[in-house]
Amino acid sequence: MKLLEYEAKDLFRERAIPVPPTGGVIKTLAQLPAALKRAGKGPWVLKVQVLAGGRGKAGGVKLAKTPAEAKAVAKAMLGMTLVTKQTGPQGILVQEVLVDKASDIARELYLSIVLDRREGKPVVIASAEGGVEIEELARTRPECILKEPVDPVRGLEAFQARRLAFAMRLAPELVGEFVSMVTKLARLFLDTDASLVEVNPLIVTKQGKLIALDGKFSTDDNALFRQKALAGRRDLEASALEREAKEVGISYVGLDGNIGCMVNGAGLAMGTMDTVKLAGGEPANFLDVGGGANAEQVTRAFEIILKDKKVKAVLINIFGGIMKCTTIAEGVLTALKKIKLDVPLVVRLEGTEVEAGKKLLVASGAALILADSLWDAAQKAVAAAAAGKAAAAGAGSAAKSIRGASGAAAPKGRKAARPAKSRVPAGR
Ligand code: GDP
Ligand code: MN
Repeated sequence: MKLLEYEAKDLFRERAIPVPPTGGVIKTLAQLPAALKRAGKGPWVLKVQVLAGGRGKAGGVKLAKTPAEAKAVAKAMLGMTLVTKQTGPQGILVQEVLVDKASDIARELYLSIVLDRREGKPVVIASAEGGVEIEELARTRPECILKEPVDPVRGLEAFQARRLAFAMRLAPELVGEFVSMVTKLARLFLDTDASLVEVNPLIVTKQGKLIALDGKFSTDDNALFRQKALAGRRDLEASALEREAKEVGISYVGLDGNIGCMVNGAGLAMGTMDTVKLAGGEPANFLDVGGGANAEQVTRAFEIILKDKKVKAVLINIFGGIMKCTTIAEGVLTALKKIKLDVPLVVRLEGTEVEAGKKLLVASGAALILADSLWDAAQKAVAAAAAGKAAAAGAGSAAKSIRGASGAAAPKGRKAARPAKSRVPAGR
């Protein structure tokens, strides 16, 4: 789970890591005067609060000298769609703006802690050359980037913190402050099961103070059971549907396509999405019903898939390993009695008692399309979704769409259909 800048800086403040004086976040223009007052004397800096970096360059960070200027900036920011290098072309809607007292910047440094999978430890990354993009620096001048591994139990050792501090070319009176800051950040990382803590830039002010001007924080979702304070926060990355799925124990990630997928096992779900894509279709979601593909879980999965109005066909691909295909078939049939299914349903079962399971489905007379292999199922789902869309669009365009669907037999796009890796739940 990721936190917004102001939430990350709240965590910093709690641990006495210096941040700029703040007026907090505003959601409406009416809240601005009070926020300016809380932040103290101007100038101020207004910053859109979205889960994406590169805001500065995209116009999401602006200085204001007077309350009138701040008002104009806030008015433009609230409700704007910010497009940065990290958001994709669709951008993100700005609903919150942070109002901080502006700092006088003398130097910008870079400081972060990330999990280094090869080291099997967190690692502090620091550079005296802040303010620039770290990826760019890593490419062009890797010698400017320092790394120190963090012992997961002992934390960052004093000698390591000092080694980093000296490399930052700080004034002698700031070395101690840097040591204290990087040690506290490493401790924060360990205590909160973080996967990223980033301060870019960490600034030296003209008044000779060291301040975390920006803050990024992500924690490992698998640790939320013991990170109660973080678990209680809203997960801005999850859609309403994803949150609902999580509550009933279903791993679900919404995607842009129109074929709803119901699968058991994360690996099979990935394979199903890739195969749908290979057949020329677009999956509407990643969905892992979990270990018990019983009537209750199948019903819940149906409910979640069908709440996504983009879905034009549903593809069930379930492997009966420990669970028999007959049990799964009964589960699907029970769910179908409860659910009002108004899109085509393709079912592919494989595994223990598969023939008996298929017979149950056929004998029930339920309106579903049986498939034998995954490839067969994917093609049938793609054709069904295209036909459904065409029917909705009216007779005129139907012929065209159906021709498009038949073209699905030849694999088209091979683009990976998988959602961003970090959002896919760990495989079972
Ligand atoms: P990001 O672009 O999303 O990483 O947002 P940052 O919070 O890092 O801000 C981007 C840039 O805006 C910083 O690198 C600074 O150069 C500038 N900036 C942000 N806050 C202040 C401030 O208080 N005073 C001044 N002078 N510049 C600031
Ligand atoms: Mn930044």
